[in-house]
Amino acid sequence: MTANTPEKTPVTLLGLGAMGTALGRTWLAAGHPLTVWNRSPARAEALAAEGAKVAGSAAGAVAASALLVVCLLDDDSVGAALDGVDLTGKDLVNLTTTTPAQARARAVWAEARGARYLDGGIMAVPPMVGVPEAGGYVFYSGSRELFELHRATLAVPVGTRYVGADAGFAALHDVALLSAMYGMFAGAAHAFALIRREDIDPVAFAPLLGEWIGAMAGPAVRQTAARLKDGDYTTDVVSNLAMQVAGTPTFLATAEGQGVSPELLRPYFELMRRRLDVGSGEEDLTGVVDLLLFG
Ligand code: NDP
Repeated sequence: MTANTPEKTPVTLLGLGAMGTALGRTWLAAGHPLTVWNRSPARAEALAAEGAKVAGSAAGAVAASALLVVCLLDDDSVGAALDGVDLTGKDLVNLTTTTPAQARARAVWAEARGARYLDGGIMAVPPMVGVPEAGGYVFYSGSRELFELHRATLAVPVGTRYVGADAGFAALHDVALLSAMYGMFAGAAHAFALIRREDIDPVAFAPLLGEWIGAMAGPAVRQTAARLKDGDYTTDVVSNLAMQVAGTPTFLATAEGQGVSPELLRPYFELMRRRLDVGSGEEDLTGVVDLLLFG
């Protein structure tokens, strides 16, 4: 390092699975001194060859840097890896996927051990890490001060989006987006099943499906959000609930005719029907959100 080269923040990284290895590689490439630890030592060899210092224990790795990034399988593995490790004065950034409740509890746990805590939810798969044009990012929540302090270092692997002081919010955003993704996958699976036994090329069908989902999803979620915010579910509705519920037998009959189970479609249709049954026929579909809330 020359006198003119700004010092790069040293990083300690625990967890060298597919994601941890991808993250670590980008810090090395950007010139950050990197100390790594993994429960199975063999997984550290790749990053060691690229310049990472390999610690023999989690405690040894934690001692090496003030900034500690953890990317392990789940919350239990974070507890196991850091059990008995001195975290005093450390800045702990936990990128392990957890529930919001686990993230909040982990923040309290870390702070009780003298560490500052930031939680992260990774919205990327390993091939997107270190590839800015791929659009991956991490949701962060918890200490804003800590986020700002390490923002530049955290932005090396993928983009950053801070979503609030509540340590659980990163996990909540992560799970909310992924839950919507599974709903979308469910819809796509049903659509492919409908054409599966026909002389329709799924490869030719795919762009029609993808473009339709894209065209519907963006405006629909923005409109739902606006209605949830102002509480008005009926003004300027173009496809009202009564009309949409009237159409559901067509979808169910088509599924039956194609020999396809309606099990992915039916729960949503049942919610639409329940909302209609309380006299909400002039609304759009926003009321379904409220039906999902317990209590
Ligand atoms: P991997 O299964 O590849 O790696 C899991 C890591 O956790 C390994 O380092 C493993 O160590 C370690 N581990 C598991 N149990 C323990 C334990 N009890 N004590 C210590 N270490 C343990 O997972 P990924 O790297 O893919 O994922 C890591 C995190 O990133 C997860 O929370 C995942 O949800 C999240 N993520 C992953 C994405 C992906 O596409 N891969 C996408 C977005 C988020 P060992 O090598 O010894 O088994």
